[in-house]
Amino acid sequence: MPANDQDHEKETLLETDRTHMWHHMSPYNPNPMIVTESQGSWITDIDGNRYFDGMSGLWCVNIGYGRQELADAAYEQMKALAYFPLTQSHVPAIHLSKKISEWLAGEYRVFFSNSGSEANEVAFKMARQYHAQRGEPGRYKFISRYRAYHGNTMGALAATGQAVRKQSYEPLAPGFKHVPPPYCYRCPYGKTYGSCNMECANAIDEMINWEGAETVAAVIMEPTITGGGVIVPPPEYLPKVREICDKHGVLLILDEVICGAGRSGRPFGHQNFGVQPDIVTMAKGITSGYLPLSATAARAEIADVFLEPGPNQHFRHLNTFGGNPAACALALRNLELIESEGLIERAEQLGHDLRSKLATLENHPNVGDIRSFGFICGIELVEDRTSKAPSAPDRVLKVISECKKRGLLIGRNGDTIPGFNNILTLAPPFSTTEEDLEFLVNVLRDVFEQL
Ligand code: PMP
Repeated sequence: MPANDQDHEKETLLETDRTHMWHHMSPYNPNPMIVTESQGSWITDIDGNRYFDGMSGLWCVNIGYGRQELADAAYEQMKALAYFPLTQSHVPAIHLSKKISEWLAGEYRVFFSNSGSEANEVAFKMARQYHAQRGEPGRYKFISRYRAYHGNTMGALAATGQAVRKQSYEPLAPGFKHVPPPYCYRCPYGKTYGSCNMECANAIDEMINWEGAETVAAVIMEPTITGGGVIVPPPEYLPKVREICDKHGVLLILDEVICGAGRSGRPFGHQNFGVQPDIVTMAKGITSGYLPLSATAARAEIADVFLEPGPNQHFRHLNTFGGNPAACALALRNLELIESEGLIERAEQLGHDLRSKLATLENHPNVGDIRSFGFICGIELVEDRTSKAPSAPDRVLKVISECKKRGLLIGRNGDTIPGFNNILTLAPPFSTTEEDLEFLVNVLRDVFEQL
């Protein structure tokens, strides 16, 4: 297309966008990138500019862009059976539920929905009803951590521990309590890892005691806080939380929406810590973002309680689209390819390589801390390494826009915690090559040198 026609097409699209679109996170984005093509770990905008997608979209395009096999799986399934509700069954959901149970290395029953938020809502309802079925209807409270993100619906947002995201929407669902995160770089208890008593984990024990164990249904957490700033817990943290939950008869829900689907270098993030959760929620990477699908997997013993006589023998929850056949067929193919191409091991290796290349930035005066978990990385920017004063939003936004000018898209720990807008995030697709990693780190180094 001649350049003039191309400019005209883009202007027309932008005009239509401004008139009709309500963008996520903002009603008005006057100049959005219009992304048109993709391959591997790279996307192309309408002007033909290529960008390395350092965030896999929203932490989801795990396998990488442009996989024909996934398109074929959805296409073939749509021709055979485009839709049927999961009050009955269909072949792709059956196979996918088995595959997810295999990845979880335990006996789980899998309930399908459409988004991570919904998967967490399902987990909350399962947990409350599980206790009610067993004669403890008073267990309705949930404990999560400050800085965590668990979704945008009224329950999942209530579990979220980021004040700015909640403002304007409160009151949210009642019954959600928060404890401080295991944030060793800025320990909420003023301690240093190695000489602390895991006060952050004990806070959960204390809260259960203060609230009364007989009122607490479950604890929900990500294996590593991702969107809240890549807060990686010490190795003993999750096992300790598991122990505390067991002591009080409280269920442990692990939100694997980001850390699952191979992202952590294991099938699921919690497998790095040797704990077995009661309920696991997942979304994003299970379809690598190609179609919407999420799942809530409950240990078989928990699901079995719903078969026993109780106040409400059925799990009274359904949704129209959850477990759509094409989405399930695609997810199954996605997980099979991740397995057969060794992409979980690859994610682990890429994570190590990225972390060691980033070590060259460690002495920069604005780099306070670099944290990684599998193929996820967070770079915490500070104004001063001694005081650890977080970098001002302008500086962080400048880094992001300078990276973009050089063809690199990265994320940040959104403006979700007042004063803490300062963590750059990276979670590239598993299709990333060593050459791509080199590019990514070179761009960051170049931008940091100009800070
Ligand atoms: N849990 C976590 C940990 C997430 O990161 C997200 C989304 N960023 C969600 C839940 C919610 O998922 P969704 O946007 O698909 O509703």
